[in-house]
Amino acid sequence: MKKLFIIANWKSNKTIEETEEWLHDFSDGFNKANIKSEDKKTIIAPPFTSLEHARYCSRNLKLSLEFAAQDVSTFNEGAYTGEVSAKQIKELADYVIVGHSERRQNLGEDEDVVHKKLEQVFKYELIPILCVSNFDQVQSSKFKVQSYSSKFKVNNRVLIAYEPLFAIGSGKPDTPESADEMGKKIKETLGETPVLYGGSVTSENVASFTRMPHIDGVLVGGASLDPLEFLEIIKNA
Ligand code: PEP
Repeated sequence: MKKLFIIANWKSNKTIEETEEWLHDFSDGFNKANIKSEDKKTIIAPPFTSLEHARYCSRNLKLSLEFAAQDVSTFNEGAYTGEVSAKQIKELADYVIVGHSERRQNLGEDEDVVHKKLEQVFKYELIPILCVSNFDQVQSSKFKVQSYSSKFKVNNRVLIAYEPLFAIGSGKPDTPESADEMGKKIKETLGETPVLYGGSVTSENVASFTRMPHIDGVLVGGASLDPLEFLEIIKNA
């Protein structure tokens, strides 16, 4: 059985109190389902404001969850008001989402910014979840991923999330066949790195993606806000 990554991206949702409620509602079913992290690694990406409390609750509830930040600064520590550096994230999470299409579209993040963020993530030995919505973005990051991986001596420590723009938040997912084709091309380009699919994933359609040979998991936005729906996604994956 291949190892799957199931990632919840909460975006700018949930207060600290709502984070605690989500984890409590999720915990019973998740612990009962006895999901082995070697088979299905479950990663939660709360907003920065909830990250520490989510980790605290997860530990108290004995949940085998891992955590991701949704973004990282292009800068190292220092005089960069409002930025959160990779060094700071290192205390709170193992993974960082880089290049999400909402940041590319709404905040003007271009390839240069994405590459600088990747550099920070590698420098602090975090694992990037690099979001791409087309093959050009894969090609553009190929050299950076490979050169940073060798510079910082890390292998296969990049997760790629293929998220076609039309599928994000639209309720209209890509077809599993088309996502798988992209997964195959990404692996041919970057090597045997895990490729996730993202875009309107639900508990109903998740298995159609995770059973494809070149898809190693899912990145879930809207459907991850409901703890019971997210639990069903993990179970059905
Ligand atoms: C996402 O935010 O990465 C995403 C895939 O969102 P949604 O699941 O809501 O389409």
